[in-house]
Amino acid sequence: MARTQDPDLIVIGAGAAGLTTALVATLRGLRVTVLEKTSVIGGTASMSGGGVYIPNNRHVSEVGVTDSREEALAYLRACAGAGADDSHLVALVDAGPRMVEYLEDEAGIIFRPWPSVGGTIDYRPWLPGSKHGGRPLTSPRFDTRRLGDQAGRLRVNPRARWVQDPLDYYAERKHLMAPSADYTPRFATGDAGDAVEFGSGTALTGQLFLACLNAGVEIRSETPVRRLIREGDRVVGVGIEHDGRPTELAAGLGVVVATGGYSHNEELKRLWMERPLQYSNEIAENQGDGHLMGVAVGSQLAGLGDAWWMPQVEMGVDNGILNTGGSREDRSLPHTMMVNSRGRRFMNESVNYYDAGETFGLKAGATPRNYPAWLLFDQQGVERYALLAWKMPGGVVPDWLVRSDSLADLAGRLKIDADALTASVDRFNGFARSGIDEDFHRGEDEWDRAWGDPAQLPNPSLGTLEKAPFYAMPVHTGALATRGGLRVDDRGRVLAALDGEPIPGLFAAGNCSNGGPTGSYPGAGATLGAAMTFGFIIASTLADSRA
Ligand SMILES: Cc1cc2nc3c(=O)[nH]c(=O)nc-3n(C[C@H](O)[C@H](O)[C@H](O)COP(=O)(O)OP(=O)(O)OC[C@H]3O[C@@H](n4cnc5c(N)ncnc54)[C@H](O)[C@@H]3O)c2cc1C
Repeated sequence: MARTQDPDLIVIGAGAAGLTTALVATLRGLRVTVLEKTSVIGGTASMSGGGVYIPNNRHVSEVGVTDSREEALAYLRACAGAGADDSHLVALVDAGPRMVEYLEDEAGIIFRPWPSVGGTIDYRPWLPGSKHGGRPLTSPRFDTRRLGDQAGRLRVNPRARWVQDPLDYYAERKHLMAPSADYTPRFATGDAGDAVEFGSGTALTGQLFLACLNAGVEIRSETPVRRLIREGDRVVGVGIEHDGRPTELAAGLGVVVATGGYSHNEELKRLWMERPLQYSNEIAENQGDGHLMGVAVGSQLAGLGDAWWMPQVEMGVDNGILNTGGSREDRSLPHTMMVNSRGRRFMNESVNYYDAGETFGLKAGATPRNYPAWLLFDQQGVERYALLAWKMPGGVVPDWLVRSDSLADLAGRLKIDADALTASVDRFNGFARSGIDEDFHRGEDEWDRAWGDPAQLPNPSLGTLEKAPFYAMPVHTGALATRGGLRVDDRGRVLAALDGEPIPGLFAAGNCSNGGPTGSYPGAGATLGAAMTFGFIIASTLADSRA
């Protein structure tokens, strides 16, 4: 391999983890090349909500929240599953706040804390150390014209067009908005048109991309990495495809794998996922490339089978492409309930989306499987909440929604036993009247109440389903992205399958690794928070080693 112009560090993937690693490493004096498979920069992070969960960050007090290292660690430990490495949780708590400070002070990145109101609460508020707001951070409005002639290289999410401040959604509890005769949203993806102002994930990656350009990071798009090159014990470079031709690139300090998850590799999903994953919001190019390249040079795998669960609902077909979106608010509104194909409830419908994902059951074995599943609601819900009324833009019932004047007929159309469904609804209506969900405790914890309707009494999460017509829409198993992959230590070094020791020159961050709070989704932004923090740790460690 030619070595004269070789960088110190190669980063594979220009998403949240990759951009953060490259930015910090460059600002710390390393020569970095980012190799990105697609023609645009930002990965799934560009398509995301852009929340970055950093407990005990320096902004929490701005929204009246107090936090501490001890509380943050207690909460992450209480959340994390058996497969989590405790050293990762410590790393997140210790390095996360420093990552925010570094990006703000040295790279010009701006973060704003989420307010302490409504649905900004940590996802398992019943656990010690949980907080309401402050820990998730977001980006301000980003104008893509700041990128100059590079603007076209940013992946933009049309849904992230700046129409309103996304934080107002929480502060003003807009999920409870009443239907309005003169407005229905357009659910289809569409395109961003000539929009230049974006919020959410596009604003985050816009900021990171701009900072990378200013710092002089070399980012080559349309350059998929095909393999890692190992000489002796050490990973020394990568095999890439450039202009359709295979070539090699070496790096003095090593290679960082930041290729995201494997949602769009059906074979890996079949083999690795323990639960069904019908729809994922990850970009189509995330196919587990980094996982497989790592395995090929001897990496250990960990945390597989899990995903950043988020049940999905269909949102219509646009230009022949089925759009799906996460289900969160609609499950929490009064006058909604969920049933499986036996006509039975199987979950607290209001629970956070990660925990909701688990209730669908496993792919194999003797455990009950709660899919297919349906979200049911009635006319009361449609009259009260725009989020339900908008399922039928212009009053037209889409083909993915079933409407009927009776529960028995609805059951027949869903191929569910009518008596079972009617009994479930009757029992649920009893809970709604008494205010106590004896089966699944919906409305008993602060998360449920934050997403419920305070005007709904006696329980803000429970309303009867008794006014025709009745509606049913399928709820699919889904996720924002898969997680788990190359096993890393608390410095992001990939560990070898043979002896558990770090493979010299090989690092990983984000959804292609297990670096994070495995087995839990502690709060809004936990995926980006972990990806960016591990990217920061890797860059800082390598720069320190050079100092
Ligand atoms: C609708 C939606 C909302 C979300 N909201 C949030 C939120 O608010 N907060 C949060 O924390 N998370 C959120 N997420 C999840 C979050 O976006 C992802 O978990 C996060 O982007 C993962 O970062 P990453 O760097 O690991 O992967 P990605 O951001 O996906 O980046 C991976 C990059 O690697 C590239 N790549 C893949 N293979 C190769 C290869 N062989 N060679 C070169 N490049 C390659 C890909 O093209 C991509 O650009 C959301 C996701 C979606 C879709």
